[in-house]
Amino acid sequence: SYSVRIPLIAGNWKMNKTVTEAVTFTKQVTDQLPDPSEVETAIAAPAILLQPMIDANSGGRLQVAAENCYYENEGAYTGETSPMALKDMGLHYVIIGHSERRRYFNETDDIINRKVHAVYNNAMVPILCCDETMGRRESGEHVHWVVSQVTAALKGISDDEAKKLVIAYEPSWAIGSGKSASFDQAEEGCYLIRQTVADLYSDEIANQVRVLYGGSVNPDNVKGLMAKDNIDGVLAGGASLKEETFLQLTQYK
Ligand code: PGA
Repeated sequence: SYSVRIPLIAGNWKMNKTVTEAVTFTKQVTDQLPDPSEVETAIAAPAILLQPMIDANSGGRLQVAAENCYYENEGAYTGETSPMALKDMGLHYVIIGHSERRRYFNETDDIINRKVHAVYNNAMVPILCCDETMGRRESGEHVHWVVSQVTAALKGISDDEAKKLVIAYEPSWAIGSGKSASFDQAEEGCYLIRQTVADLYSDEIANQVRVLYGGSVNPDNVKGLMAKDNIDGVLAGGASLKEETFLQLTQYK
């Protein structure tokens, strides 16, 4: 990877773990994580787990992150999580636009764009996810699809905001399937995302943006993925649930 970009190894727990389990996990891994100036490590967890994890990690190296938030800071939105409340907890990263949010919770490009703005307006950084289906890959449409998702999500986002961005390329067919994209397919997707940022902003900004690969990342394939020029990190679901495998991901070097 390009030397100015600090690698980011991120887990996405999805709707797994209780507070008790989350606290045990955090206490077990926190002292064994790499120096964040060399490799950043994060776990995105459901909102109810975040404050207990922050407390369990106190002074530690884990970045506790959110999996989602709403696009308004406050108001009559029963059941939603405020980005302002996440910022107040001290969070830095919020996943936005995961394919499961798009698919099961009907998040459109417009909603995702509003959420990206809301995260930046609260001085946090989105981990913006883009997906791609096997059908689209087979019909050759995936390039257009990935470009259009990134373009729509970043509408109205300034240069200063864009350069901090983390974008995850997550082909839906590789998520939870045990069938990761090949190293070359993953690199191709991440390269495409970086080119899209270069076209929307500039080469300089595109060189600062971190692009992650996600979809069946595990301790066996992480090293090969991380060796690719345009892959600056990973977003791992299943492999982030166990202390041992998450630690192995963070020690990919
Ligand atoms: P997976 O999930 O690692 O279990 O495939 C990745 C994701 O959905 O972020």
